[in-house]
Amino acid sequence: MTQTPMTAAADLAPIAVVTGASRGIGAATAERLSRDGYCVAVHYGNDADAADSVVARIRQGGGDAFSFQADLTRPDAGRRFWEAYDAVAGDWRPRPIRTLINNAGVTLRGPIEDFAATSLVQQQQINQTAPFLIVQEGLGRLEDGGHIVNVSSGATRIATPDIIAYTMTKSAIDAFTRTLAQHLGHRRITVNAVAPGIIDTDLNAGWLRDNQQAVDQVLPQIALGYIGTPAEIADVIGFLASDDARYVTGHTIDATGGSRL
Ligand code: NAD
Repeated sequence: MTQTPMTAAADLAPIAVVTGASRGIGAATAERLSRDGYCVAVHYGNDADAADSVVARIRQGGGDAFSFQADLTRPDAGRRFWEAYDAVAGDWRPRPIRTLINNAGVTLRGPIEDFAATSLVQQQQINQTAPFLIVQEGLGRLEDGGHIVNVSSGATRIATPDIIAYTMTKSAIDAFTRTLAQHLGHRRITVNAVAPGIIDTDLNAGWLRDNQQAVDQVLPQIALGYIGTPAEIADVIGFLASDDARYVTGHTIDATGGSRL
């Protein structure tokens, strides 16, 4: 069930909208931003119960949050995203948004020989087109002096053959970040990206979780010697969404534990 906001707390704090915040990096980011004093709008794709759990954890911690659903595969994803936000936002609706985190994403794996054109388009839609459309349709809602943080990938720095299409989408996110930062500088809106390495989330469940052989292959390739946690990415996003990072814009910050993968 979609959760509506609690008005009292919403009156006091800036708003952050986090896409794909029902689990993984997005959920950790929503919780981190709440601890930093944000009211958090928790977007999700199809896992309402998971999104509600994130809202519940934020409220248990003394913050406020609400959840809303929007499918990012649609060609009109931007308009639908904000319509879905407005439908649930209640008293938050007229208030400006300080921070937008474009986190939702999918990794579709497979060699180029077998990679379906429909998978290519779907992955581009979610990872690359939707952030563009959400920003495009949301520009008027963003507060001057606010922040946009996009979630890229450390995969853009290296060459992994079974995620060619995924890597293309994340390289586009880096370009989006650089160029949008120039466009929004006059409003003092910072635009940055975080490029995570290999993080323990559902995104990697298929090949890494419960697969000791894969873990044994991966760990020697990571300078810090362990697979990252969602919270370790959320902390970098939290910094970029804070006043401490007010003179940082147009950059992609790697948080890969020194991964060579
Ligand atoms: P995850 O699978 O745990 O969570 C993905 C989130 O995106 C979920 O909330 C899901 O509901 C949402 N989502 C997926 N498809 C959607 C759709 N069609 N419409 C609406 N929402 C949709 O993944 P994660 O690991 O937390 O990944 C978050 C971001 O981090 C992604 O952009 C991913 O590419 C990036 N990333 C992850 C890793 C990693 O190792 N986990 C590494 C580099 C980059």
